[in-house]
Amino acid sequence: MTWTLTSNKLSQKDVLQDESLFFLGNGFLGVRGNFEEGYAPDYTSIRGTYINAFHDITEVTYGEKLYGFPETQQKLINIIDAQEVTIYLDEERFSLYEGEVLSFERKLHMDKGFSERIIHWRSPKGQEVKLHFKRLVSFTVREIFAIQITIEPVNFFGKVKIVSTVNGDVENFTDPNDPRVASGHAKRLKVLMAKEENGICTVKNETYVSKLQTACATQYAVNTNHTASHTVHSDCVESHFTFELSNTVTFTKWNAYTDTLRHGEELVGKATVALQSFISFEDALSAQEAYLADFWKNADITIEGDSDLQEGIRFNLYHLLQSTGRDPHSNIAAKGLSGEGYEGHYFWDTEIYMIPVFLMTKPELAKDLLIYRYHILDGARANAKILGHKQGALFPWRTISGTECSAFFPAGTAQYHISADIAYSYIQYYLVTQDIPFMAEYGAEMLFETARLWIDAGNFHKDKFVINDVTGPDEYTCIVNNNYYTNVMAKHNLKWAAKAYQILVEQDQDALQAIMNKINLSQDEVAQWQKAAELMFLPYDAELDVNPQDDSFFQKEVWDFDNTPKEKHPLLLHYHPLTLYRYQVCKQADTVLGHFLLEDEQAMSTIKNSYDYYENITTHDSSLSHCVFSIMASKVGYHDKAYQYFIETARLDLDNTHGNTKDGLHMANMGGTWMAIVYGFAGLRAKESGLSLAPILPKQWTGYKFSITYRNRQIAVAVNNSAITLQLLEGEAVSISVYNQSIDLIPGQEIGLPIQ
Ligand code: BGC
Repeated sequence: MTWTLTSNKLSQKDVLQDESLFFLGNGFLGVRGNFEEGYAPDYTSIRGTYINAFHDITEVTYGEKLYGFPETQQKLINIIDAQEVTIYLDEERFSLYEGEVLSFERKLHMDKGFSERIIHWRSPKGQEVKLHFKRLVSFTVREIFAIQITIEPVNFFGKVKIVSTVNGDVENFTDPNDPRVASGHAKRLKVLMAKEENGICTVKNETYVSKLQTACATQYAVNTNHTASHTVHSDCVESHFTFELSNTVTFTKWNAYTDTLRHGEELVGKATVALQSFISFEDALSAQEAYLADFWKNADITIEGDSDLQEGIRFNLYHLLQSTGRDPHSNIAAKGLSGEGYEGHYFWDTEIYMIPVFLMTKPELAKDLLIYRYHILDGARANAKILGHKQGALFPWRTISGTECSAFFPAGTAQYHISADIAYSYIQYYLVTQDIPFMAEYGAEMLFETARLWIDAGNFHKDKFVINDVTGPDEYTCIVNNNYYTNVMAKHNLKWAAKAYQILVEQDQDALQAIMNKINLSQDEVAQWQKAAELMFLPYDAELDVNPQDDSFFQKEVWDFDNTPKEKHPLLLHYHPLTLYRYQVCKQADTVLGHFLLEDEQAMSTIKNSYDYYENITTHDSSLSHCVFSIMASKVGYHDKAYQYFIETARLDLDNTHGNTKDGLHMANMGGTWMAIVYGFAGLRAKESGLSLAPILPKQWTGYKFSITYRNRQIAVAVNNSAITLQLLEGEAVSISVYNQSIDLIPGQEIGLPIQ
């Protein structure tokens, strides 16, 4: 049951939300869960089909444009719409908002990789049919989006007409009142060509400025005698099918999408070839199931004792998988491929909240995501230059193709920590995989260039290394000196740049030499990285035994939470940024996140006191916050709180708790749910010293299970109220630490330990 998400809602609000919840994707293509036949005439729908990274370039307009502000930005484009299929029973048009809906259910099958709508409908004239819509976006042939509609007569036996379109006349959704959604530039695609040949309908479009092209080829199958005709318009191809309904009829619409980024030339030809990938819809479904069986084998988490949360965790992981780019052009957008919020941009969300999931369950996807960042390294070098740095790589705060897309630098470009976050995930990848060739080809250069940035962005001052005028993760406190999070992450970055250098000295001198030549690196720089790391200033208040978020944070007054009415949340929509900046109020985990990622930098007492301190002043207005507080509540021993925060993350989109699920799903939070269990409840850490666990069991559950990959091994972990059971499912013997005690895992042997 918990493999299936079900809904039977038809109100305006629910329909919009369900369009996101029931979206289908495969990392390349994403299709929102729109109704093929449309909605009630007065309904708003965000109709969307997206190709990851397929974008146009739009200009950014400023009242006062200062030096170095980005002049353009990228925007994910809503592409050719192949979702539309209208059904007529003797000229009566099927709609869920006319006639009588005798039953309606919609399902998303997370183990089988398709969604369906099962409808029993009576038309205004009393004609009854059962309709069954199934759709899939193929995990194995990325170009494919298919819809199958089964029409079963109940009391209607007559002429059925189906009108189906492939429509190039599309535009993006806009909302001028919400900074998290685009406010303009709705129409960015022009139609280059629409045609029909041998029953294959194709439309090709091009963006206005980036000149990226995309094509969709569509082919139909109807399993009864029918007539078919196609009308080619300037921007769409409309196909008409008619048949007599005497028995159940199945109508299948196959669509294949290609784009310049992935397919280069001959987009129509390549889309047409992709159409031939499956012999039937059932064939495509079997491939989905096989792919997902493999994914869930490693990624599934079982929760015993709470089916709502079980649904939440599977739902979140499934959508994460559907949104993850698998090529050097693409990554995971803040809303994945489920909607247009944040305009399809990639943020630090990927490295800190999503890569960890794949790193421990499907490392090849983590690797693809890291390679994307390498792919935009030149852009990051250029960005550093724009910001006045003599050297190094500053990754853009939000981007698709590698240039900065943030028009509000205090909470955008100033978040320099993104470069250290990316470095952090390269380091984690190395710690979990020990992949030396990857380090030689990508990792070392990334670590060197990001380390160089810190040397240039910061400076030595009175025996300390300080970093001024940056913004940490908390976007309610901007442009500060010595943000704890940024400094501690930069320290790690610098330390590991020097370590990576040493690793290559020992393992691959040729590769090292090649990188040094390429980026003109000297040994002196390595010594400087080490020195800056050692002397990195980390703000600490001895009286409180807390790390202040930055140099001036404790000088500010605490926000008046008691007198802030509920309707003034989220604060960002109701207060000028400067008002927020002047108070101690955090949008999201900042120092607390630093304590999670680099826990050995502080004493446990400081970590705990800081947790208490920041919890009181954090609004969690960002969906990136709850999961971190859950993880850290587990660590400091607040088990009930850990559980409460976990609930917030697990069902955030399912229950639309942030009120904007219609614009797309909150991908970072979705990764955060997995992290709250594996890093939080189970206390997993991957460090230089190895892998460690310190599990607790939330008292609301009777148990939970998950598995992880670690250095070519597969390890199963099960926790119940008396014991932790560990089993090495694949790979050679290994020692891991459980509650600080070393445990040898041997193939085939199950190890049970008492839970503490
Ligand atoms: C958060 C950022 C995040 C962005 C995209 C913002 O609300 O404050 O940390 O990167 O959303 O998810």
